[in-house]
Amino acid sequence: MNKNNLLLETIKTLRAHNIKVSKKKGQHFLVSSNLLKREIDYSEIQSSDTVLEIGAGLGTLTKVLAEKAKKVFAIEMDHKLLQVLKDKLSIFNNVEIISGDALKLEFPPTQKIVSNIPYSISSPLTFKILSAKYERAVLTYQLEFAERLIAKPGTKNYGRITVGVYYKAEVKLLERIPRTAFYPPPKVESAMVMLKPKPPPFAPLNEKTFFEIVRFLFMHPNKKAKHGVRYYLKSKNNKDFKLTNLEPLSKILEKRVRYLTPSEINKIADILISEYE
Ligand code: SAM
Repeated sequence: MNKNNLLLETIKTLRAHNIKVSKKKGQHFLVSSNLLKREIDYSEIQSSDTVLEIGAGLGTLTKVLAEKAKKVFAIEMDHKLLQVLKDKLSIFNNVEIISGDALKLEFPPTQKIVSNIPYSISSPLTFKILSAKYERAVLTYQLEFAERLIAKPGTKNYGRITVGVYYKAEVKLLERIPRTAFYPPPKVESAMVMLKPKPPPFAPLNEKTFFEIVRFLFMHPNKKAKHGVRYYLKSKNNKDFKLTNLEPLSKILEKRVRYLTPSEINKIADILISEYE
């Protein structure tokens, strides 16, 4: 199906089911068959693969995934779209439609995660994907968010999500996507990204605490790291905190948070864990 056909088909389906597109739910439906084809190619789906799709929408991507994979889990939260999905996908016996909020559901372990995700939940959804069991994820994001995933320390897009991704996955920006690839077109450009799990680049004494400290530090990315550390210890009701306890870190603690490399953050976390936990 060429792009115009997919666009016409999408508009027709929305009209036929009297569906008003919800901005809040990030409903922008894929209408570029070329992009659809490349998304499938990047995913390298094998006939033995199970695949998870988050936000299946009108099932455009789901249908092609079902033709290629052994099994597809398709999550969608919008009741009207769920009805369309059930009708459209009833010819496949390898698709399991899961009704609900992707942020609240437990993800089934799958080889692949392939999704044009709702942009409004990019950050929590990415953290959830990073903790899921998968081999390769091909995802579309807002371009600006995709750039955050690959940002270098000290640049404007560097933040908590960058550190999370750096720690858990290999990340590759595959291509930029014009607004017209979706209907209705989103306000900004998008980008397709590939994530592959990788072994952590360093070994925190306590991974959970490491991520908690990352979260605290990036609440104030422009403040010096020592302030973030203070907030963190305060949140733990730690009254014995003295910067002198952290002498080996004195140089790092004087840096602004957004200039800290993931490994410097790990140094902070390790000393805090060994001093205070
Ligand atoms: N996969 C479809 C496509 O490519 O045309 C739709 C993509 S659209 C960008 C995102 C979809 O995610 C919408 O169908 C929306 O209803 C759904 N959605 C939004 N928030 C969700 C959530 N928290 N859990 C599950 N689905 C959600």
